[in-house]
Amino acid sequence: MLPLVAIVGRPNVGKSTLFNALTRTRDALVHDEPGVTRDRHYGVCRPEGQREFAVVDTGGIAGEDEGLVGATARQARAAAAEADLVLFIVDGREGASALDDEILAWLRRAARPTMLVVNKTEGRDSQAALNEFSRYGIGDGIAISSAHRQGIDDLIDEVIARLPEVGTSEELDNDPARIRVAFIGRPNVGKSTLVNRLLGEERMIASDVPGTTRDSVAIDMERDGRLYRLIDTAGLRRKSRVDEAVEKFSIIKTLHAIEQCQVAVVMLDAGEGVTDQDASVLGYALDAGRALVVAVNKWDGLTDYQRQQAESLLARKLGFVDWAEAVRISAKHGSGLRELFAAVHRAHASATHEFSTSEVTRAIEIAYEANPPPVVRGHVAKLRFAHPIGSNPPTFAVHGNRLRTLSDSYKRYLENFFRKRFKLVGTPVRFIFKEGS
Ligand code: GDP
Ligand code: GDP
Repeated sequence: MLPLVAIVGRPNVGKSTLFNALTRTRDALVHDEPGVTRDRHYGVCRPEGQREFAVVDTGGIAGEDEGLVGATARQARAAAAEADLVLFIVDGREGASALDDEILAWLRRAARPTMLVVNKTEGRDSQAALNEFSRYGIGDGIAISSAHRQGIDDLIDEVIARLPEVGTSEELDNDPARIRVAFIGRPNVGKSTLVNRLLGEERMIASDVPGTTRDSVAIDMERDGRLYRLIDTAGLRRKSRVDEAVEKFSIIKTLHAIEQCQVAVVMLDAGEGVTDQDASVLGYALDAGRALVVAVNKWDGLTDYQRQQAESLLARKLGFVDWAEAVRISAKHGSGLRELFAAVHRAHASATHEFSTSEVTRAIEIAYEANPPPVVRGHVAKLRFAHPIGSNPPTFAVHGNRLRTLSDSYKRYLENFFRKRFKLVGTPVRFIFKEGS
């Protein structure tokens, strides 16, 4: 399970800079592309070889209780109140302020485990910076500089040390014979309708997976002779049974589901196109490097003219994930589901394909010869060899010289070349460039 860490502090102390330092993904490349409009408030910190945790940048927590400021403050408080750990961030250059005191008073009432983070301490003695805030009496703090990435690794170690232990029973034991699929998307796109239809189908065998918690419940099912584990679907089933009020869209639950699945099916409402919230859900799946299928739901409700409109809109708005298959479905009528599961299988097969070093090196050689990178300041990057270093998503180490001069567009060219050559669909492809041999 992903624990949640909230970054709390008054405006301008460096919350979003710290958020970016913690959640900066290896796939920064992807997010420079137009179309990935996404709110940047939630992210996942993935320190190498250590526990992962979700991070929320709460924005301004203090302020009036009315109007827009009040709404932001209420959301920030709600996010902080559900956090496993709060990072209370203060400005080491300006020192303590009345607003800091106000926030701290609120944090005390909320009684969440809190850690003091003194930011903007570059070029200063850490202890001296911390001492200025010792009157807050919240125990050991840490001095960092978010903008200069100083102290970030220590901060991550300290955060992990303070997070609650996870019981092993909460982890899903993953059955390699089953494809783990999560249906994600903003409210009302039809997730529960789809899952209920799947679970209600006659020849399907479904059972709850024991040992899962309230936040993460999985259901095993069989369909057309193949085995699946549907991630995070309990809430969905419950909702339709008791007709509860529509649950507030929970980004943290979406992040959990993404972490635990192998293939993320992002559902959209065909009648509404691709909203900012849809793009942000897609962004979270991309951050995690998940295999991806887009399910365009409610296709039944559209006239021919509306379908044409929807097609061109989707083509335009989903350009940044054009490697993912988009399947038109109707959860209500059950149409398109065979195609949907076929796409899930193709994405899973691509994401978990095993490559040999020789075929990967050969691919790099051919890609390089067909289209060498342009000369940059009199130098040309040289790609020498490559080997596979991971799957789901397929990840390749590429060795060579002057690799730092490779442009984003050249990296994209390599990605697309690999997709074509190895017939990869529905999965991100990652390259890690290593200077020298
Ligand atoms: P937020 O309002 O709390 O999210 O603050 P921001 O992250 O937007 O940062 C506010 C300003 O402080 C920006 O101009 C940042 O560049 C700057 N800043 C953030 N971290 C540091 C730091 O470690 N040192 C210095 N000197 N400036 C920083
Ligand atoms: P969720 O919030 O994503 O779980 O969405 P629901 O499954 O609760 O569906 C939201 C609304 O869309 C409900 O009124 C459904 O009946 C409707 N809906 C779901 N799937 C379809 C579909 O394929 N076609 C049509 N026309 N309506 C649908």
